[in-house]
Amino acid sequence: MRIDIVSVFPEYFDVLKLSLLGKAQDKGLLSVTAHNLRDWTHDVHHSVDDTPVGGGAGMVMKPEVWAQCLDDVMGLVPVSFDDDGQPVQSRDFRLIGTDDNANDSADDTESVDDSNDSGDVDADSAASTDDSTIADSASTEATTDSPKPILIFPNPSAPLFTQADATELSRADHLVFGCGRYEGIDARVPEYYARQGVEVREYSIGDYVLNGGEVAVSAMIEAIVRLVPGFMGNPESIVEESYTGDPLLEHRQFTKPATWRGIAVDPVLTSGDHGKVDRYRRDEAMERTTRIRPDLVEELDCKAMSKADRKT
Ligand code: SAM
Repeated sequence: MRIDIVSVFPEYFDVLKLSLLGKAQDKGLLSVTAHNLRDWTHDVHHSVDDTPVGGGAGMVMKPEVWAQCLDDVMGLVPVSFDDDGQPVQSRDFRLIGTDDNANDSADDTESVDDSNDSGDVDADSAASTDDSTIADSASTEATTDSPKPILIFPNPSAPLFTQADATELSRADHLVFGCGRYEGIDARVPEYYARQGVEVREYSIGDYVLNGGEVAVSAMIEAIVRLVPGFMGNPESIVEESYTGDPLLEHRQFTKPATWRGIAVDPVLTSGDHGKVDRYRRDEAMERTTRIRPDLVEELDCKAMSKADRKT
């Protein structure tokens, strides 16, 4: 799986080199590249934000700098617009060039200038309305094997990111994350890429507001990547977990000794009777879920009811 992250604090993602995530990168199961959004600015201050249209507090991240960066990172030919704001070429995005181009941007985090150069060249070619150029681009699209990226923006006012989303995204080949800061990214950026046919997702990681998208993206990446086949040494350890299969919270876990500081585990757990242990754990999972997350029990009831309906 290839992961690209765009942030004004790319060094934040150095932690992804640690532990199992680092090992997965060493093994070649995963490639993670954090890009600095400011490398796509053209002014002396490297500014990425501006005041909100319509007034109000705070600053909003500028769409131009985000689009130049994302076009490059995703290897997309940007659409050019004439003076009236009309697109001068088909609005379908096309992946740039060959596999080599795509790999260059994936492997080489330092050569941001190079990727900007290639973006400029492609902007020129996109500006052409010549039929043969368009036909060439279309055939380029047909020959490239680069997987289509899924573009993900963390956003506190988006639907909640769940284990089901992590499971689905663990099957993707290429994920691109855009970390907002300040009041967030100009809302036309996700809309623009969705209009071009890119699969765009926005997710909240909880009902609270963080300073930026970096923590949210780290959490999503960790939840996704641990489900990639080959990531966990023991694949069994992700089968029986909270929110997985039946959407119940997991039963409590204990290790030895069976009694510690006067607190004993339930004797069933040391009985050696696997059937009893399974039933005990299942009951505890149901009790904890009912008490802590009754919404999940409702979900389970709905699933059971619709299964029964299908049988009748
Ligand atoms: N003005 C926004 C609002 O009230 O909804 C908050 C912007 S927040 C200060 C800046 C950035 O942090 C967001 O653009 C997003 O990338 C990230 N962020 C903050 N809280 C988040 C959450 N709960 N889930 C996902 N991303 C979050």
